Amino acid sequence: MTLRTAGQPRIAIVGGGIGGLATAVFLHREGLPCTVYEQAPQLAEVGAGLVISPNAARQLRRLGVMETLRERAVQLDTGWEFRRWEDGTVLSSENLTDACERLYGEQTYTAHRADVLNAIKAQVPPESVALGHKCVGLDTGATPRLHFADRRTVEADVVIGADGIHSVVRGALFAATPATYSGICAFRALVPAAKAPEFALRPAQTLWIGPDHHLVHYPVSAGELVNLVAFAPAGDYTVESWTATATVEEFLAEFDGWDRRLVHLIRAAGTPGRWALLDRAPLPRWSEGGITLLGDAAHPMFPFFAQGAAQALEDAAVLARCIATGLDDLAGALKRYEELRIPRTTRLQTVSHGRSHINHLPDGPEQRERDAAFAEHDPLVANAWIYNYDPDVALEGGVTAQR
Ligand SMILES: Cc1cc2nc3c(=O)[nH]c(=O)nc-3n(C[C@H](O)[C@H](O)[C@H](O)COP(=O)(O)OP(=O)(O)OC[C@H]3O[C@@H](n4cnc5c(N)ncnc54)[C@H](O)[C@@H]3O)c2cc1C
Repeated sequence: MTLRTAGQPRIAIVGGGIGGLATAVFLHREGLPCTVYEQAPQLAEVGAGLVISPNAARQLRRLGVMETLRERAVQLDTGWEFRRWEDGTVLSSENLTDACERLYGEQTYTAHRADVLNAIKAQVPPESVALGHKCVGLDTGATPRLHFADRRTVEADVVIGADGIHSVVRGALFAATPATYSGICAFRALVPAAKAPEFALRPAQTLWIGPDHHLVHYPVSAGELVNLVAFAPAGDYTVESWTATATVEEFLAEFDGWDRRLVHLIRAAGTPGRWALLDRAPLPRWSEGGITLLGDAAHPMFPFFAQGAAQALEDAAVLARCIATGLDDLAGALKRYEELRIPRTTRLQTVSHGRSHINHLPDGPEQRERDAAFAEHDPLVANAWIYNYDPDVALEGGVTAQR
């Protein structure tokens, strides 16, 4: 059974990732108990990094986890440092040292995903998490009922599907169309700092861009590791799994002819992970009655603006407030939530999608035009619409923080 206090709705969250757990914390802050149903036997994250942009840091601070997280995160001096593939020429970069906090009231960090999840998890009352609960179905009637793999069922007044890109909740609400293959695959590794070249240890988010490929690296885990992720054509590779692997030779072959400095970094990758990137079009709505979606379940996006987790955190803040202020009309509260959030996440899905073309241009006139445009604008200012966002302002009818 979901936890219930007299007069309060029974709220069930499916999925205990960053989005689901953040929602649980925000709901508890509103005095609303809830239960997170997570399929795994433990709350855990995959071994990979995250960029924590100022809008994400704003929500992590509200969750009360920024101080803890700062001990393991890396505060960046340089963000979005785009470099040319063959010689490392810097095409554009964000100088974050003073400007980021002055403009947005927060710094930009990088972190290991497990550090982010653990910091949020520490704020969730343990009795609110039900592990080993794999949701396999959902009755979408007036009172939703969740079905789990072990045949247990749970009734709730509000169901929040925070169960990621293959969301069962999304499948129950809308036609269960599978995600499509994007034609792009990713190589991923965490390289120990002792094995990484000096240039990869700088507190910088560096992106090497070139024909059909790009490669990103930044330090995480208090500088003990370098997160390395690279994108390449998938060919006929369609394995979508955080545990599938490739060989260093396969990884190196994709970046043959690129700046020699990258060879050292890629060689240090050990056994890199490899997975096919999936694609989904934006949804026009997320809710039906007392059921809604959040995070990747609602709006999976290509990672090229590093905003997926950030958007899940913002969803969580807005949804908790909408439920808390809309207890007498829960379906209306969920509608308000999606109306506030869909325009922003759709825009981010669209621009993230577009960046796969921009980052992967072959050398030629279009690439030269792109590089000239990169040189002219400061991404820290150009991305103000992303970094400014404050859920409280959005809830009051504005869109961004006024700074
Ligand atoms: C290469 C890459 C780099 C990225 N970099 C960034 C970045 O720098 N910054 C950023 O903000 N975002 C980034 N993202 C995006 C970010 O990782 C995701 O958007 C974010 O993790 C989504 O969180 P979520 O909680 O919605 O879903 P998930 O993290 O997918 O969590 C879903 C949870 O639900 C559980 N679950 C799934 N199905 C069920 C079920 N049937 N029953 C019960 N539980 C279930 C899962 O076990 C999991 O715990 C990146 C993504 C990729 C692929």
